[in-house]
Amino acid sequence: MKLRLALIGLLIWLPPQAFSWGFFAHQRINRLAVFTLPPEMIRFYKKHLTYITENAVNPDKRRYVIPQEGPRHFIDLDVYGDSAALKLPRTWAAAITKYTEDSLLKHGIVPWHINRVKNQLTEAFRQHDQLAILRLSADLGHYVADACVPLHTTRNYNGQFTDQRGIHGLWESRLPELLADQYDYLVGPAGYIAHPQTQAWQIVQQSQAALDSVLRFEKEVSAEIATDRKYSFEERGGTTVRVYSAAFSRRYHERLHGQVERRMRQAIRLVSSYWYTCWVDAGQPDLNNLQPLTAAQQQLLLEEKRQLYPQFTPERAHETE
Ligand SMILES: [Zn+2]
Repeated sequence: MKLRLALIGLLIWLPPQAFSWGFFAHQRINRLAVFTLPPEMIRFYKKHLTYITENAVNPDKRRYVIPQEGPRHFIDLDVYGDSAALKLPRTWAAAITKYTEDSLLKHGIVPWHINRVKNQLTEAFRQHDQLAILRLSADLGHYVADACVPLHTTRNYNGQFTDQRGIHGLWESRLPELLADQYDYLVGPAGYIAHPQTQAWQIVQQSQAALDSVLRFEKEVSAEIATDRKYSFEERGGTTVRVYSAAFSRRYHERLHGQVERRMRQAIRLVSSYWYTCWVDAGQPDLNNLQPLTAAQQQLLLEEKRQLYPQFTPERAHETE
């Protein structure tokens, strides 16, 4: 008993990665998005599949290097009152006129940031700038996927106000890691997004609409499962961590009726559709005849990756309240 108590004292939560899909899901989303691209794009993206996949998590790693990075991954819609996703100014320029920039940054800016990166990627295509295309494609995939996560649209991002601490990691890391091999990933081809800015707002609006189930079903399943069966312990990176048990996770998954799978499928299709839209808006540049990356460029990409390592896993860099 003593040993167990001591162990619990040492335990830390499964790193909540509480600011995005877990690394596993982000990488899978970016990777699978590549395969839904049209023939004119797929060859280039497949050639760089490893880069696009591995660097899907760069924005999360960057949080520890660049202070401005944190707010780009979420938006606490509930601080703006009812129907915030419908009422908030669509453009960043209008938003900073209505609210102070500090206030916007405090509550997250993901829908505005998606559009910003969309414009940057369009420009990279226009310039035939391969390095920028790769970096920005990986980044845009990350932000679009984050916007698809219901818990990225609320101040109660980790259940901390409703006695559900850890729910963020449960939804976006634990469930995909346990179940993602069973998901159906046939999502159809990438499509053109006529209004990328509006689309970003629709994504967070849908995510917020799913939030009630995310929180309510966790409460329901918690009431049905004995506390000592709710959690289990796993070794991760040399540390014992407490995680939601497989039994709890599966029951929660069943209660959600495939919600995580649906959001992940949607993320895959949206990511490729944003990439495709940037390419179309740039005038459909020929990606098949770009000069191969030079050794120096390849080295630069590797160096950038190295600089983002090691990363820590604080409770949530998202906010520090
Ligand atoms: Zn993120």
